[in-house]
Amino acid sequence: MDYLEKLNPQQRDAAVHKEGPLLILAGAGSGKTSTMTHRIAYLIKEEGIAPYHILAVTFTNKAAKEMRDRVEDLIGEGTNMWILTFHSACLRILRKNAEFAGYNKDFVVYDPTDQKVVIKNCIKEQNVDEKKYPPNYVLSIISDCKEKAISPAKYAQINGVDFKSKIILDLYTAYEAVLKKNNAMDFDDLILRTVQLLEKNEDVLAYYQDKFKYIMVDEYQDTNFIQYRFIKLLAEAHNNICVVGDDDQCIYQWRGADIKNILDFEKDFKNTKVIKLEQNYRSHANILDAAHSVIEKNKGRKHKKLWTDKEKGEKIKYYRADNEKDEARYIAQEIDRLHSKELKYSDFAVLYRTNAQSRTFEEALSVREVPYRVLGGNRYYDRKEIKDIMAYMRLVQNTADDLSLTRIINEPKRGIGDKTLEKLKALASVRNESLFESLTDDEIVEGLPSKAVDSIKEMITVLSQYSQEKDNLKVSDIYDGLLVRTGYLKNLELQNTVEAEGRIENLLEFKSVIYDYEKDNLQLTLSEFMEKVALMSEIDNHDAEENAVVLMTLHSAKGLEFPVVFIPGMEDGLFPGWRAFEKADGIEEERRLCYVGMTRAMQRLYLTSADVRTLYGKTDYTKESMFLRELDKSLIDGDAIYEKKSSTGGYSGTDMGRNPGWSQGGGNDGYSGSEIFRPFDQLKYIKQGQGTGASGSKAGGSDLKEGDKVSHNKFGEGLVLSMEGSTVTIAFDSVGVKKLAKDIAPIKKI
Ligand code: ATP
Ligand code: MG
Repeated sequence: MDYLEKLNPQQRDAAVHKEGPLLILAGAGSGKTSTMTHRIAYLIKEEGIAPYHILAVTFTNKAAKEMRDRVEDLIGEGTNMWILTFHSACLRILRKNAEFAGYNKDFVVYDPTDQKVVIKNCIKEQNVDEKKYPPNYVLSIISDCKEKAISPAKYAQINGVDFKSKIILDLYTAYEAVLKKNNAMDFDDLILRTVQLLEKNEDVLAYYQDKFKYIMVDEYQDTNFIQYRFIKLLAEAHNNICVVGDDDQCIYQWRGADIKNILDFEKDFKNTKVIKLEQNYRSHANILDAAHSVIEKNKGRKHKKLWTDKEKGEKIKYYRADNEKDEARYIAQEIDRLHSKELKYSDFAVLYRTNAQSRTFEEALSVREVPYRVLGGNRYYDRKEIKDIMAYMRLVQNTADDLSLTRIINEPKRGIGDKTLEKLKALASVRNESLFESLTDDEIVEGLPSKAVDSIKEMITVLSQYSQEKDNLKVSDIYDGLLVRTGYLKNLELQNTVEAEGRIENLLEFKSVIYDYEKDNLQLTLSEFMEKVALMSEIDNHDAEENAVVLMTLHSAKGLEFPVVFIPGMEDGLFPGWRAFEKADGIEEERRLCYVGMTRAMQRLYLTSADVRTLYGKTDYTKESMFLRELDKSLIDGDAIYEKKSSTGGYSGTDMGRNPGWSQGGGNDGYSGSEIFRPFDQLKYIKQGQGTGASGSKAGGSDLKEGDKVSHNKFGEGLVLSMEGSTVTIAFDSVGVKKLAKDIAPIKKI
């Protein structure tokens, strides 16, 4: 049990707590997450609890992965324990019980970009003014409802049917109908539908209550109503629930997080053991004191103060820049200066309030040739070509997905304009079929130009084939096949532009993402892969191994730690943001965010602001952040903080020379040095492997005969038993007899 020796007495007390509710309420960096991982290890190693009976949930995939790694280190072996985000845990439950939840088991998950497409269509169909009801606004109301388990019917009850509520209600209802029809769920649905499933099905609930005898939740202060319900339902049977959190770090109230969940935990679960941790192991004393001097201004907080036996360390550095470019230049310069043997690039983080701030840092870091990674913002998965190919893959998984089909029906060009598409959709709707299903009927496409008819038929054939064969193919084979046979790749090649070439490279890069997952899981199925990608939250691109400065929002830095942290944009209006001034608890929530940001720093903390800032194309004089003014001055080194400064400048509306020729710069591809990524070799390989036409003789087994020995990409070696029409029957050594589609089976004669 020497792994428990490293813990302090309170931490150890919590780690060896076996039965009954446990609440660890403590400040940043006090070892809450560490204690939880030790407790998991303790339950398994000392108490003999099967990992099968443990559920540990947190908020980001990155945090879940770190937790799993730490547990595996402690127990000395790999595990497939449920250490997951809320979303992934619910998705697993739903996938297994889809029918009970009223979905087909192949349901797909829509990300925010997809949601926006759906709601935009609804707004258009209902002739609502998009300016008065912008998609994001409507979506935020829908999301808010789902987080509180408010159905459209209930929404009507609560809000009545005045003009505005009626519009929202109709949009919400239409949105839900589209998702249902497409056999799709959005992120909020994942949790909501799981809760509904558990509430309605005693047997399913009993099964999971019995399975998860020990439940743990990290960052509990950020749970919202529906997440709370989920946990409560599962824990009710045995009450072995352990939650950890810090009320000072609740930063998701704007997304429905309810701080009461943690503050009322003791009332909620009788006989709770409460453990408080008071020693901070992360930060030098000056950093901790500075963070404390800010957070103590919050009125609605329980009094608590952390201590540390670490040295005082450097004071907090404050730099008041001339403008945002100078701010970025200063930060890049400091990173360059401090970077050394002891401090790798990946030890530095720039944590900003909004993604829009990242561009100037990218530029400044590129100038100094400092490698960096931007997390969030323009995500890799948001790129057009990736969304396109994902839409194809989704259709293979679930042909009922009209949204995906709409996206790619004319991508590459198949002669289907918007009007034609609308007509096809209307026909499908009359027939009460999915778009895909209706297009399999020749009658529907009758009357279209013959070129369009041919290309639609070919597309439908390819998608049907892959859909039927999806379980017999590796994900990478499906991917290659789709790229080639849908004509998508060819079309990019023909364009012969730099942009198209970039897109091809991205598509090839995507293959290394697939390989990576296949490497870990030889039996990876298409739906598993799609889920991994769908759930890839912004934080996931953060690879600690990569030696690059990390740029991300303060929100996504929760739970992480870095030796050197920069928080730029310390200005009223930016941080705290203007909107915070309009809401009751707005400033307090921003202050907690400031506390979260400051307490990420282990050795050095920099705060910066700019005298004049251009953001969103608007230039203004700024006023230093109230949080700077609140900070204990004796802990600050650098520029003086002005107590008063006019915030009304004459610059509004002008652009102070933003660089229009902006480019992404180096160090951000995330794949440099990867062994797998050799773009143009791969292109050759993909084409050889899959042939180029629907006949696909190279990939398929058309020239096989009975008795041939063959090798299959997924199933290994086997013997051809028979050939019949388009089907070949093969007895495989590993998986027994399989019937495969001759045209697309990745088999070779040996
Ligand atoms: P946050 O509130 O930011 O999520 P936390 O309370 O979860 O923080 P951890 O991330 O678990 O804190 O721990 C912070 C740091 O302190 C880690 O580097 C961890 O390894 C270290 N640490 C935790 N407990 C101890 C201990 N007893 N002795 C030495 N180091 C410790
Ligand atoms: Mg933590």
